[in-house]
Amino acid sequence: MTIYHSWFKLFGLLAKADKTDLREEIIVENVSRLYCMACREFVPVRDNHECPSEYFAAVDREMVGIVDRLYKMGITPMIAVWSAIDMSDVKDFEYLLTVKVDIGRRICEAVLGELPAGWKYHWETVTPDKTELHMIACVERWYNFGFEDESVETRIYELIKQFEDYLDTRDCEAVKALLILLEV
Ligand SMILES: [Zn+2]
Repeated sequence: MTIYHSWFKLFGLLAKADKTDLREEIIVENVSRLYCMACREFVPVRDNHECPSEYFAAVDREMVGIVDRLYKMGITPMIAVWSAIDMSDVKDFEYLLTVKVDIGRRICEAVLGELPAGWKYHWETVTPDKTELHMIACVERWYNFGFEDESVETRIYELIKQFEDYLDTRDCEAVKALLILLEV
């Protein structure tokens, strides 16, 4: 019955869909902020904060948990952001979700071990020039079937929480030691 209900709702939306709504539209794009990983706080104005710039990262508020955990392990994020792009002809139905962390340098994958399902290392771009990347990211196509307790935001938080939980299973000191050991 629930499925029927959600499809019913979808067809309702379809009927109402305006022609101008058919383009790709970014409906949720949040603003990055400067975050000091040493003090574990957001810094509104760079000049007002004493810490050296290597402690700063551009962090979406929802991703502070991931940044703090990685930093504690000796992996220093530079950027940690998420985005949800509405890909559908019907508004609010199909999304491309991205949760990504730029860790600033390539690390040996064995240091963290196997990432949770959906998460991958990205060391180079897929374009022919193969620009170097230092990214751990989760990219997902997500469909909004109209269930009451589901939304694009809650799905994003789930993905973030999933990676936080994964990082909690890692041994901080062991990761730190391995990073130093493998650094040449
Ligand atoms: Zn600071």
